[in-house]
Amino acid sequence: MTAKQCIAILGAGPAGLSAALWLSNLGFEPRVIDTAERAGGLQNLNFLANDWVLGQSGQTGPALAARFVAHAASAGVPVLTNVRPERLKGTSGAFRLRLCDDQAIPCSAVLIATGTRYRAEEVLADVEGAANIAAARIAYGPYAFADLGTQAGKRILIIGGGDNAYENARLLAPVAAQVHLASRSRPRAQQGLAAAVAAEVAAGRCRVLHPAAVKAISESRAGIEVTLAVADRTECIAVDRIHVLAGYEPNTAFLAEILPSELRAALHCDAQGYLVVDAAGRSGAPGIYAAGDVCNPRFPSVVSAIAQGAMAAKTIEMDSRTT
Ligand SMILES: Cc1cc2nc3c(=O)[nH]c(=O)nc-3n(C[C@H](O)[C@H](O)[C@H](O)COP(=O)(O)OP(=O)(O)OC[C@H]3O[C@@H](n4cnc5c(N)ncnc54)[C@H](O)[C@@H]3O)c2cc1C
Repeated sequence: MTAKQCIAILGAGPAGLSAALWLSNLGFEPRVIDTAERAGGLQNLNFLANDWVLGQSGQTGPALAARFVAHAASAGVPVLTNVRPERLKGTSGAFRLRLCDDQAIPCSAVLIATGTRYRAEEVLADVEGAANIAAARIAYGPYAFADLGTQAGKRILIIGGGDNAYENARLLAPVAAQVHLASRSRPRAQQGLAAAVAAEVAAGRCRVLHPAAVKAISESRAGIEVTLAVADRTECIAVDRIHVLAGYEPNTAFLAEILPSELRAALHCDAQGYLVVDAAGRSGAPGIYAAGDVCNPRFPSVVSAIAQGAMAAKTIEMDSRTT
């Protein structure tokens, strides 16, 4: 009897766990490795109900993530958390992945499913005075959606112009004292959210400013004084909180450190650092596959990540027949 081939999967979000389940069902031995303390990926930070996954109605993000992790566990897939991949050696069919705890995993292929991270402090890095604002007054990314009930009566500046920023404005405007939505470029939220925010603007509960860039911030007894460059004028507003919802970046920088130079050269990233793969999940580097948000899907979501993970797993199985 031949030993099962081990496949190392970097990232325990929906893409990585879906690939792991499929690989296990296809007769492989997947090993999932995640740098986070908790497996499940970005849904662990989705504080709202996620009603976009067929058959999973009424689940919050963390509940959904826990279901994915439990399903992988029930298939006997080992998921290592709080570990960092440090070095990949060898070639397709005979890799050796070393982890930060000195464990070495022999594997025949590697699937990259490391997703994205929300842009945080770097968004305000060049803003005068930003470093002096109390941390509790600024919420980044998903944390702008936590404890929404405690924002009643507050004045809030939301920085961003995508779905997340608009959704945040839609939820806060009915309860907050005033919501300002400042977007550097033309807002690009989906129609439903744009219409909901337009209704709040019409009701006088929300303002949309663009093109608008935050220039300076200072804290005073009145709250946070914000200086904005709005089109060709300067505007000063006073708010209680700032919510930064300025997009996501791919978790790919670490690949430059862990991959041998020949694989690095064969792996392609787009201008924003997302991995470029073919429709089946193959990267340009032999034995290296990728799935999920790290590949910049047209509509990043749980279901597309699950589908891409399954697709990459099946591709790995098909490619293994010829190696
Ligand atoms: C607040 C919020 C709300 C959302 N709401 C919805 C929704 O309602 N419906 C929906 O469909 N989608 C929603 N999404 C999007 C959805 O969560 C993502 O599209 C999906 O999680 C992507 O899955 P993924 O597996 O590709 O990546 P992720 O879920 O990002 O998982 C990637 C994993 O890789 C790990 N990782 C990162 N770097 C490394 C490394 N170097 N080595 C090993 N592991 C690493 C991370 O810790 C993480 O666990 C939401 C996202 C957020 C942030």
